Amino acid sequence: MQTQDYQALDRAHHLHPFTDFKALGEEGSRVVTHAEGVYIHDSEGNRILDGMAGLWCVNLGYGRRELVEAATAQLEQLPYYNTFFKTTHPPAVRLAEKLCDLAPAHINHVFFTGSGSEANDTVLRMVRRYWVLKGQPDKQWIIGRENGYHGSTLAGMSLGGMAPMHAQGGPCVPGIAHIRQPYWFGEGRDMSPEAFGQACAEALEEKILELGEEKVAAFIAEPVQGAGGAIMPPESYWPAVKKVLAKYDILLVADEVICGFGRLGEWFGSQHYGLEPDLMPIAKGLSSGYLPIGGVLIGDRVAETLIEEGGEFFHGFTYSGHPTCAAVALKNLELLEAEGVVDRVRDDLGPYLAERWASLADHPIVGEARSLGLMGALELVADKTTGQRFDKSLGAGNLCRDLCSANGLVMRSVGDTMIISPPLVIRREEIDELVELARRALDETARQLTHVPHTQEEPTV
Ligand code: PMP
Repeated sequence: MQTQDYQALDRAHHLHPFTDFKALGEEGSRVVTHAEGVYIHDSEGNRILDGMAGLWCVNLGYGRRELVEAATAQLEQLPYYNTFFKTTHPPAVRLAEKLCDLAPAHINHVFFTGSGSEANDTVLRMVRRYWVLKGQPDKQWIIGRENGYHGSTLAGMSLGGMAPMHAQGGPCVPGIAHIRQPYWFGEGRDMSPEAFGQACAEALEEKILELGEEKVAAFIAEPVQGAGGAIMPPESYWPAVKKVLAKYDILLVADEVICGFGRLGEWFGSQHYGLEPDLMPIAKGLSSGYLPIGGVLIGDRVAETLIEEGGEFFHGFTYSGHPTCAAVALKNLELLEAEGVVDRVRDDLGPYLAERWASLADHPIVGEARSLGLMGALELVADKTTGQRFDKSLGAGNLCRDLCSANGLVMRSVGDTMIISPPLVIRREEIDELVELARRALDETARQLTHVPHTQEEPTV
């Protein structure tokens, strides 16, 4: 079949996630056919550097034979069986052991799910159940953050703070409140980053007092907000949040679905910030996206209560601990470990990206270039000196994203924030290529939007 044939069928029968169905119908999709390393290939013969690791998940890169072999062997041995009631199987057990080995010392249990959204549904139920078992049934409120993302199920959407989703999603799950996000460039530039981080932590305390200090069960947040715009909080933020949570005895849920498995240069993003979460939802990089699997890593405090006092937990999924997915995830973790991928992100590739990415800060339409580990963002601005944004109607971010795509780079836009999050196996020369392709797209975006002169640097790729 040709590209147009796929596109016609796609248009006729396929409603894509997070997509304007009508606009897609007019434009047609890119048909991705295969992938290798950090590159995807389309049906038109284009090779595209995947600056987003799929959807922040292909940490080990594409085309890893070992993962194919792990899947094949498990499919032959035991393709599926459940873990309900009193049944288990070797891949689920071995993956659970490995995860608890990699996790901080106070985490010794995992509950498996099929995705990150299901992991956050599980979190919601576990947190509320925990406080009931503890004899504090009034502690039921969960606080999340505006612009946070915790999934697309009703619980995930409700825990998250994505305004367009709430607007379309109907009434949210009750008992969930949101506070401001620690997004200094977007919302805090009238003060220093440190003062802003502090102010965001104070907003948490204010919300707790507003809801009633005996009524708040948990605070859920991504260590670095991913889908909200690769938002690294100011250094003052997490230490101040930790103090507030300790003061009111509130559980911390660190959503590691994006930050986990090396993205920020540690096995878990919360380790970068010195956090000791009670619960950590995981997915994506757990299997490098090769097969769908998620879970919740559970700290001893919650796990022991559920085990000792909980009785039967009426919750679980057909694919909780799916053997083939678990076998692939286990192999993925073994490879990440054996190849020193996480250390390399922390000690070599992260600092290298930071240096190269920061070089884009001199671009006339870039107001800020930030990165941590292998996650980066650029803030597009119309006026570099004042930091004034482009008029929303210009759609600068989407234009830049489309120009990147046409040039052979997948970069994501969230409003006028451009994001990258490439596979963790990217090489230095591929980081150079990524940065050059991004610069070219910025030049072209600037030319189309503001007619500012091109930067002088000649593209090297
Ligand atoms: N949590 C976070 C932080 C995420 O980024 C995502 C997905 N982007 C999810 C949860 C939901 O994961 P899934 O799409 O696997 O349900």
